[in-house]
Amino acid sequence: MNRESIGEFTEEMIKKTADLLVNSKHAVILTGAGISTESGIPDFRSPKTGLWSMMTPSESMKMFTDHKIFWKIVREIGPKIIKAKPNKAHKIIAQLEEMKIVKALITQNIDGLHKRAGSPLPMRLHGDATEFMCVVCHGRFDAKEIIQKHKPEDDNLPPTCPQCGGQLILDVVLFGENLPRGAWIESVAQSEKSDLFIVIGSSLMVSPANQLPLYALKYGAKLIIINNSPTDLDDKAQMVLRGQIVEVMKKVYKQIKKIKN
Ligand code: NAD
Repeated sequence: MNRESIGEFTEEMIKKTADLLVNSKHAVILTGAGISTESGIPDFRSPKTGLWSMMTPSESMKMFTDHKIFWKIVREIGPKIIKAKPNKAHKIIAQLEEMKIVKALITQNIDGLHKRAGSPLPMRLHGDATEFMCVVCHGRFDAKEIIQKHKPEDDNLPPTCPQCGGQLILDVVLFGENLPRGAWIESVAQSEKSDLFIVIGSSLMVSPANQLPLYALKYGAKLIIINNSPTDLDDKAQMVLRGQIVEVMKKVYKQIKKIKN
């Protein structure tokens, strides 16, 4: 497959992306943390602003056993997720799903913004940080309320269930943990079925989510990558639109509207 560009995106590439979307039979989108940076939530690997500057994968694995680390991370990310609103790119994807142009949305994100933007059933590979779950009674609670009630002097204590007193955990997949089985199986099936697979805002460095574009390619899909920095799969993509996601998606959507009217 020829790579058309790894530089800045062009109007020609916007038109081609819109054409491919409109004419696809089964377009699938995979999003990563990059789609939510313009909503104010830091990603992992953007230079300077990424979360890796304050949390390492090994801290992430200790998160449920070391309560100090747990609260350090929740305090850093929680308020940003609570305050964040879906941006235009989340909304455009929801719109494209409603128009039946995008048939499936897979996300690595845990911020709940796709759902809040109106996407009916995003396949969430890494869980949802807007909810806490009790390990004893399996009750689910709004993370916002739990975070607001927490006092910094209780940093060494686990958050507890308001119903039964059991330990609360965030409903997210940590490094080294298995993905939710159903979401993973469905994501693989959708990727293999796709004729157009678009990756938006992912470094494609986290496995196994980064295998999904390869499943799509194996079954003949065209791959488009929208990201502001290079990824390992750029060479395999039909097109790489290197730019800010909201700007690119607004242009693609405008072009789709032109084609449709
Ligand atoms: P990543 O941080 O590894 O990569 C994000 C990519 O998006 C980077 O290549 C970056 O250059 C690009 N990017 C950032 N902002 C952009 C913008 N406005 N326009 C264009 N490109 C932009 O993220 P990942 O690939 O999703 O994988 C990391 C893991 O991070 C996932 O497991 C995810 O669960 C977790 N995470 C999620 C959130 C969230 O839910 N919002 C936030 C941080 C981390």
